[in-house]
Amino acid sequence: LSDRLTSVFSGLRSKGRLSDADIDATAREIRIALLEADVALPVVRAFIARVKERARGEEVSRALNPAQQVVKIVNEELIEILGGETRRIRFAKTPPTVIMLAGLQGAGKTTLAGKLATWLVAQRNAPLLVAADLQRPNAVTQLQVLGERAGVAVFAPEPGNGVGDPVQVARDSIEHARRANHDVVIIDTAGRLGIDEEMMRQAADIRDAVRPDEILFVVDAMIGQDAVNTAQAFADGVGFDGVVLTKLDGDARGGAALSIRHITERPIMFASTGEKLDDFDVFHPDRMAGRILDMGDILTLIEQAERTFDAEDAARMAGKLASGDDFTLDDFLEQMMMVRKLGPIGNLLGMMPGMGQMRDQISNIDDKDLDRVAAIIRSMTPGERQDPKIINGSRRARIAAGSGTQIGDVSGLVTRFFEARKMMKQMSAGGGLPGMGGLPG
Ligand code: GDP
Ligand code: MG
Repeated sequence: LSDRLTSVFSGLRSKGRLSDADIDATAREIRIALLEADVALPVVRAFIARVKERARGEEVSRALNPAQQVVKIVNEELIEILGGETRRIRFAKTPPTVIMLAGLQGAGKTTLAGKLATWLVAQRNAPLLVAADLQRPNAVTQLQVLGERAGVAVFAPEPGNGVGDPVQVARDSIEHARRANHDVVIIDTAGRLGIDEEMMRQAADIRDAVRPDEILFVVDAMIGQDAVNTAQAFADGVGFDGVVLTKLDGDARGGAALSIRHITERPIMFASTGEKLDDFDVFHPDRMAGRILDMGDILTLIEQAERTFDAEDAARMAGKLASGDDFTLDDFLEQMMMVRKLGPIGNLLGMMPGMGQMRDQISNIDDKDLDRVAAIIRSMTPGERQDPKIINGSRRARIAAGSGTQIGDVSGLVTRFFEARKMMKQMSAGGGLPGMGGLPG
């Protein structure tokens, strides 16, 4: 039992504020994780600076070690940056709502047009797909095939008229949408392998002709370090309201999401995750943060440790522990229950400093044992729990009968309680146990 308590205590210790050393050590790891996720270097620098700023002066958590605490802050900042302005499509007051797609060739614009149309149909909209990519011979056919699969009408230039004018097609499509009662128009545009002026000018001309309600910048999540330049070029050349990340089904860790968000401050609205029409979802910042950070185990552990060591519980308990005298059988029971709550995460506890012993203990704790202890304590009067010294022979017999246990169980429990309290007094008197640091005062 004393081992078990030792572990609980070390979970409760307080070290004041997070130190620069704690923060720097973890920040180095985060930096590597972000670079590995292909977040652009200047973005990594700015992000780390922001995290350090927030972590500095933060009170040390009682549930987490400093490294975990910094990781937690990093995760929260990531989610906040990625999702700060998450929003859905803004529909026009007077239909049709015009959505224009822009991005490099191969980014996934045409595929996305089909997906977006499918998604809108499911929401009872009546979209119209517009083929304004007349650069490549196959582009129109590709959109028509997608439209057919999605069961959505496609507006395209008449075949056989030579190369049409994408600006005129876009302009005409709006008129057509009005006549045919389409409430959303999705305009697919041409891209180039690299950024070039002609492509930008064409996109800007289409934009000026149809004045879209939403311009979505479609970008391949695998773009990596180039994300910064490409996003900046599109932001300057055409401007956009939101971002769609594609090919998230690949192994890219998606650092581009953070880079683009940081550079353009535009919300990431949708995520594309495959070649099928329904491989598509609204963007989930928390999932993306986890993917970029790639510290799933640690994040899970942090969540569970925090849930278990409810901050208030811990603070109250820490106050009690500081002066063994106030420690009652009620606290004793509460503490054991806290240990029991850790049960399912026992195997993860080894990752937390000073928790190894607790993990070993947990595998030894018998649930029936705990239930018996709980039953005994609950069969006591409040006075007995507050001051167990008054528990004499006749009280012991009454408690045993009330809890369905033996008199020996009751005396055993009371003895263990006094041992634990003695240990606590020793600790508060001097120095604490080895390796425990000071107790909270
Ligand atoms: P566009 O040039 O921007 O119109 O790009 P396309 O829509 O033609 O897509 C280029 C290629 O990427 C095609 O082979 C698509 O099937 C594929 N693609 C598009 N989106 C995704 C996605 O989310 N995941 C995967 N795996 N492939 C995609
Ligand atoms: Mg295309």
